[in-house]
Amino acid sequence: MSDCIFCKIANGEIPSATLYEDEKFRVILDLGPATKGHALILPKNHASNLYELPDDVAAASMVLAKKMAIKLKEGLGCDGLNLVQNNGEAAGQTVHHFHIHMIPRYKQDHAGITWKPGTLTQEDRDDILRKVK
Ligand code: 5GP
Ligand code: ZN
Repeated sequence: MSDCIFCKIANGEIPSATLYEDEKFRVILDLGPATKGHALILPKNHASNLYELPDDVAAASMVLAKKMAIKLKEGLGCDGLNLVQNNGEAAGQTVHHFHIHMIPRYKQDHAGITWKPGTLTQEDRDDILRKVK
């Protein structure tokens, strides 16, 4: 993907604040951080989103997320950490190269990564189970 910014960053064509790199991934600091230490896990091979991600990269992404979670916790002393992974514009995806947000959380950081809980109705429950299970 010649016009993909995260391809260029992941493969080192565009410099970035890199926390970790191996042959398959680069982990960088987000330029618009939600909190101090907000990092992005980028696979070096392009996949637009989770739907397109090869199984082996999906598996390795979570192993790397665990490794980076420990590094961030130990390095920054955060009180918690959110993994966020957006697919599609409706979900807030703005860069269409698969990435996992790692967002360190601090007591009273007011980062606001949350939602207003609704109610699982019997109708929705039945509909979803019928369509997705
Ligand atoms: P999305 O909204 O697609 O899940 O997340 C895209 C993220 O990439 C945003 O948090 C945004 O701040 C970050 N971002 C966009 N362009 C760049 C860039 O050129 N460099 C870095 N380090 N982060 C970027
Ligand atoms: Zn890409």
